Amino acid sequence: MMYVSTRGTAPKINFSETLLTGLASDGGLYLPEQYPKLSKHDLDDLRNLSYADLAYQIMREYIGAEDIPHADLKKIIDKTYVKDIFAFTRDDQRAEDITPVTKVSNNLYMLSLSNGPTLAFKDIAMQFLGNIFEYLLNRENKKLNILGATSGDTGSAAEYAMIGKKGVNVFMLSPRGKMSPFQTSQMYSLKEKNIFNISIDGFFDDCQDIVKGVSNDLDFKNKHNIGAVNSINWGRIIAQVVYYFKGYFAATKSSNQYIDVTVPSGNFGNICAGHIARMMGLPIRKLIVATNENDVLDEFFKTGKYHPRSSDNTFHTSSPSMDISKASNFERFIFDLLDRDSKKLKDLWDRIDRGSDFDLSDTNYFGKIPNFGFTSSSSSHELRLKMIKKLYDEFGLIIDTHTADGFKAAYDHFDENESIPMLVLETALPTKFEDTVIEAINLKPPRPELLKNIEELPKHSYELNNNINDVKEFIEGNS
Ligand SMILES: *Cc1c(COP(=O)(O)O)cnc(C)c1O
Repeated sequence: MMYVSTRGTAPKINFSETLLTGLASDGGLYLPEQYPKLSKHDLDDLRNLSYADLAYQIMREYIGAEDIPHADLKKIIDKTYVKDIFAFTRDDQRAEDITPVTKVSNNLYMLSLSNGPTLAFKDIAMQFLGNIFEYLLNRENKKLNILGATSGDTGSAAEYAMIGKKGVNVFMLSPRGKMSPFQTSQMYSLKEKNIFNISIDGFFDDCQDIVKGVSNDLDFKNKHNIGAVNSINWGRIIAQVVYYFKGYFAATKSSNQYIDVTVPSGNFGNICAGHIARMMGLPIRKLIVATNENDVLDEFFKTGKYHPRSSDNTFHTSSPSMDISKASNFERFIFDLLDRDSKKLKDLWDRIDRGSDFDLSDTNYFGKIPNFGFTSSSSSHELRLKMIKKLYDEFGLIIDTHTADGFKAAYDHFDENESIPMLVLETALPTKFEDTVIEAINLKPPRPELLKNIEELPKHSYELNNNINDVKEFIEGNS
C-alpha cells in the first residue's frame, strides 16, 4: 500500500514514511492510493474480535509487510490496546473492550473513547503512535524531537504517549496560565526526562506561531530532526478508523444493518476516520458533523461555502477542544469529494492558504455530499448546558461539553422510531470540563480514583519568552 498527496506532486511514500513525514512536500496530506474494501462476509469475520485483534486486521490492510513485518505490527498493537492503559473509566471499572458502548435509549448509543490516560479520545491514536514511533526510530537508529503547541488536550495526549519512549523527546509549548487547572496539572506534573513542558508568556496562537517559525527554518528542522504529532498525521487517522468498526458491531446484530454516527468535530480528524471506515464498506448511513459556536464546518455542509476564520474571529467556548477556525483534515475529505482531482484540490487550497475561501455550491460536487453520508449541526453554550441536563435528568448519564455538542447534533438528525441506531462518539470524560458540567446540573462529575488529587501535585515547567530564538536555543541545549 502506497500513499499519495492530496495536492498531487509529492512523491508516493509508504506507511512508515507518512508517520515521520507529516505534511507532504507539496503542502498536501497523504492518503492511501485506494481504500481496501470489506464485504459483508469480512464484516462478519471481524464482528466478535477483541479491540486489539480488530485493530490489527484493519491496520494491516494499510501497511505493507515489507514496510513493517505484520508480526511486529501485531506486537505493537497488542502492547497498545490493553485495559491497563485504557483504565480511566467513569466508574473505575476497567473495560475489556477499550471503547465500551452504552445504550442510552431506544436506538441511541454512546461510544466511549475517553478512558485513556488523559481522558480524551486522542489517547486512542496517540498511544499507538508512541509505540510505533519508538519501533521505527529504533529500527532506523534515529532520534526525533517532537515539537508542538497545545491549548490542553493534544499536548497532554502526546506527552503521555511518549513518556519514556526511546529516541523521542517532546517539546510542548503551552500558553502560561491559560489552561484549566486539571489540564495544567496533567502536563506540568510529569517528571519524565524526555518531556519538556515549555510555558510561553502569551496565548495559544503565539505558541503555534513559534512552532511554525521553528519548523520553517529547514536547516534547524533537519539538524535537530524536528517532527510533529498533529492531527494530520496519517497514523492517528488510521488508528481512529478501528473504533468506528467496534461501535458498529456493538450497536448492530447483523452486518446488513446501517447505523448513523455523530462526531464532535474540530480539526475533522475524528470524523475523517469515520469517512474512511465508510469508504471501506462499513454500513454507515449518515455521518453527522457536530460543531460548537465555531461552525465553519456546519456552514460548509449547509451552504457549500468553506470560509475559515482568523484566530481573532474564533470564539473561546465551553467545548474548547473544538474551537477551530480552519479544519486541517478537511482537505482529505474534499480530495475524495472531488473524485481525487488533485489539480482542482490544489486550486481550492491555494485560495485557503492565501487566507481566502471557496464555494462549491454551484458545482455538481456540492450535490454529491449526501453520497458520502455527511450532514451537520452546530451548538451553543445554552444548548450544551441543556443537553448535559437532559441526558442527566432522563438517563442518569453525565457527559462532557464536547459530547454534549454531539448529542445536540444527534437529536437534530435522530428519529427514534426509525430502525437505524444512532451512535454518538464520547470524546472526553466530564471531569475534564467539570466547571461547565457543574453549571448545567449542579453536580461534580465522578473522577477516576487515581486522578482525584491531580490539581495538588507539584508542577514544573520551563518558562520562556514569546520568542522563536529562545525556543530554538532551548531545544538545542536539551536535545
Ligand atoms: C480534539 C477533540 C475534539 C475534536 O476532534 P477533531 O479530530 O479535531 O475533529 C473533540 N472533542 C475533544 C474532547 C477533543 O479533545
